[in-house]
Amino acid sequence: MEKKDFKTLCVHEGEVRDTQFKGAISPLYMSTSYAFNDVDIKQYPRYFNTPNQRGLIKKISALEGAETGLIFSSGMAAISTALLSNLNSGDHLIIQGDLYGGTRNFVKKEFPKYNIEFSFTKDLKIPAFEEEIKKNTKGIFIETPSNPLLKILNLKEIGLLARSNNLWTMIDNTFASPVNQNPILFGIDVIIHSATKYLGGHSDICAGVVVSRKKMIDKIFQSAKNLGGNLSDYTVWLLERSMKTLYLRVNAQNNNALKLAEFLSSQDWINKVYYPGLNYHPDYEIAKIQMRGFGGMLTFDLIKDLQVKFFLNSLKVIKPSMSLAGVESTILSPKLTSHALLSDKEREEQGINDQMIRFSTGIESFEDLKNDLLQAIKKSK
Ligand SMILES: *Cc1c(COP(=O)(O)O)cnc(C)c1O
Repeated sequence: MEKKDFKTLCVHEGEVRDTQFKGAISPLYMSTSYAFNDVDIKQYPRYFNTPNQRGLIKKISALEGAETGLIFSSGMAAISTALLSNLNSGDHLIIQGDLYGGTRNFVKKEFPKYNIEFSFTKDLKIPAFEEEIKKNTKGIFIETPSNPLLKILNLKEIGLLARSNNLWTMIDNTFASPVNQNPILFGIDVIIHSATKYLGGHSDICAGVVVSRKKMIDKIFQSAKNLGGNLSDYTVWLLERSMKTLYLRVNAQNNNALKLAEFLSSQDWINKVYYPGLNYHPDYEIAKIQMRGFGGMLTFDLIKDLQVKFFLNSLKVIKPSMSLAGVESTILSPKLTSHALLSDKEREEQGINDQMIRFSTGIESFEDLKNDLLQAIKKSK
């Protein structure tokens, strides 16, 4: 069969055929019980193999260039299951220092209970990973672009480092989405998404995904069926519906973020803009090689004399909100929300300052977003 384009895969790949009524979309099978047949293993939601689960994972695997995968009830269910299934007592894991807070908490709180060792890297450069490798190191866990500074890690080099040391690699690819980045092409083994973000895209689904080679997924499945973090078939079906517009949404978000980053760079009320698509971003050259688009997330620092709280509360179109990646633009202060639990010193170490704003661009018009920012700035002076 001819290889289909990404946009076509978004709409059609993994459709469940409605052979009974010939409906246009995948029917939803909520059944938790299926008749045995001789060859197959039992179909059951917690075995990750119901008709809707199998259909959707085909779509997501195709979009990432993976063989197969598993759909989970949250991004954290995907991350925790992927890690626990690949680590035993006494093993060591290297984890990127700039990391989603939930993953950081999971590792710090749960790993000691299983006697699993871990090291966070001091930055996103390759030597920082290399110097953490020990005799009992089994894998490397990364996340690029990082949150909230949007630093970029070189995927090809980290893949090479891992293979030459006989380690597996896992990436949290949530921020990029498969539209902008397919880490498998650069030698990364396991791709994880919080589907709560771009894959869902409408701020109404909580889900997670792991895709990889079949052998690796079989291994993760052995723990997944015990840990029981599968997603309800109704939400699987809703996620399939949402993903038909994945390319359109993320492409619009990429365009808005790039235009806003360029606009903000020219404004005297802005101290600094962090966006990997700006040619003065320190990792721009790497981003250009490994990303097809630079993503919908962007971060900027207001100048000192502007009040962050006042600015956020004066916005009319853009919503202050903790989550990200929806079709609606949302904004937050890392200090006041996502990174509030860290100490001042920890925030400083991660490069997070008090004037910093993280912006998740939606699909609204660029002009309306720009004007909303400008009117809020006028009020915050
Ligand atoms: C939100 C998020 C997660 C966690 O996903 P949940 O669906 O909330 O469990 C993990 N990684 C990144 C980068 C995220 O943004």
